[in-house]
Amino acid sequence: MTKIINRIQALNFLSSFEIILADRDELLNTLESDYLDDNGESIEYVDFCSYEVQLFLINFYSEEVNRGVTNEFLLSFLQKNGLEVVQIEGEEEPLYMCSCCGCKSLPDRYEYSICRVCFWEDSGDYEPNSDQHSSCNRMSIKTGRMNFKKFGACSERSLEFVDPLGKEKFRQEIEFLENNEFF
Ligand SMILES: [Zn+2]
Repeated sequence: MTKIINRIQALNFLSSFEIILADRDELLNTLESDYLDDNGESIEYVDFCSYEVQLFLINFYSEEVNRGVTNEFLLSFLQKNGLEVVQIEGEEEPLYMCSCCGCKSLPDRYEYSICRVCFWEDSGDYEPNSDQHSSCNRMSIKTGRMNFKKFGACSERSLEFVDPLGKEKFRQEIEFLENNEFF
């Protein structure tokens, strides 16, 4: 029997899996920075294990952390975990290309979002091999790209913050690869 699963279910499955495997500190940090009320203030919670807190985490991972993950990745992830799924139903959320790693991983452009694949902060558009300094990244795009090629993140110290499956989750633009001497 062919099993088709919808994208939200697949994202929730992936997100639950990642939350179970995440360090408690990492989850506490997420709550501190993203579990906010309408005024942007941190929501005080008493019990980390409460339904509300855990539901927030799953939604946050599905809607933010794993936003735009390809259906191809989700399908392969579900299959590797023993589910006999043959198709994911639902559109991928549109994402924009990161200037540093070339992956479609950003929810917006030039809004200082941080790439989940390489940790470059999206501070503007750059010529591929530009030496122009990006102050928030504390380096040029050229250095960021060389570092990504060498370490798998825009700097060696950023490596601990990138999603280890990032390169598999998001699509790398073919055009970017063809026009870049480092890849
Ligand atoms: Zn990137």
